[in-house]
Amino acid sequence: MTGTTSPPPVEVAYGAVSVLEGAGRGAYPYAHSLLVRGADATLVVDPSLSLLDHVPAADLVLVSHGHEDHAAGLGGYDMPVHVHEEDLAAVRSRAAMVAGFGLAAPDAADLDRRLRDTFRIVDRPDAQGFAEGTVFDLGGRTVTVVHLPGHTAGHCGFLVEPDGFLYVADIDLTSFGPFYGDTGSDLAQFEASLRRCRGIEARWYGTAHQKGVIEGAEEFRGRLDAYAGVVERRDATLLSLLAEPRTVAELLGHRLVYRPHVEGAHVQPVERRTLVQHLARLSARGRIEEVAPGRFRAVVA
Ligand SMILES: [Zn+2]
Repeated sequence: MTGTTSPPPVEVAYGAVSVLEGAGRGAYPYAHSLLVRGADATLVVDPSLSLLDHVPAADLVLVSHGHEDHAAGLGGYDMPVHVHEEDLAAVRSRAAMVAGFGLAAPDAADLDRRLRDTFRIVDRPDAQGFAEGTVFDLGGRTVTVVHLPGHTAGHCGFLVEPDGFLYVADIDLTSFGPFYGDTGSDLAQFEASLRRCRGIEARWYGTAHQKGVIEGAEEFRGRLDAYAGVVERRDATLLSLLAEPRTVAELLGHRLVYRPHVEGAHVQPVERRTLVQHLARLSARGRIEEVAPGRFRAVVA
């Protein structure tokens, strides 16, 4: 992508919130961004690859979490950058962002080059941290931080009022399901975050990727429940595999997250971290038992 100039993103308005649509319907490596204009100030949320050649005029940048597809080209932004304090290190330093993926050395070096060359991720040591409930007052319009951890420790949504637009970022409602395979991810937190945003009344719910903007709380909740169901399906897959006692190494021969054709250095680390979290929760619920050190079996009810 380096050296090419992309077309400007399409801007779609929801009240005073504009979604700057990422290329390819926002599928990774792209994502959707927001532009929120108040009487006194304008802010950009989650600058994506599609904004690289079209940096919007704004006073402030908010980043929902420290992943490259939500923070592309920040070196080209001369305005202040804010992110939740738990993901601050990843935005301040590309090395910290790379470390969050938990890759072995040669693969980590490849990823570092990709973040530099494709996403133009540069260190932003000046980035500022925010916390749950922080309010950015743009003049007649506020943007409130809703901490929704699990995808990453600092993953956040933003509620824009009075418009009633809740941006839920990578609670992205895709059929892929919740992603909690990074070193800073947490399945239990992710599920708590799903319950939390389920309870927030808004007119629009904006996701960062293919599903775009969902209108209406009822529609959003239906989709959220289907999305949460992917976690239950992963449990069910694991329980059926554990009808016979198996080790983690044996279980890793079956994928919980990625389809079989997906390749890449990230696949095994993500599958392992996902598997370990499901084993821990099934064990805590008495659904599986460790029949020998490192060997698990489903408990027959
Ligand atoms: Zn992400």
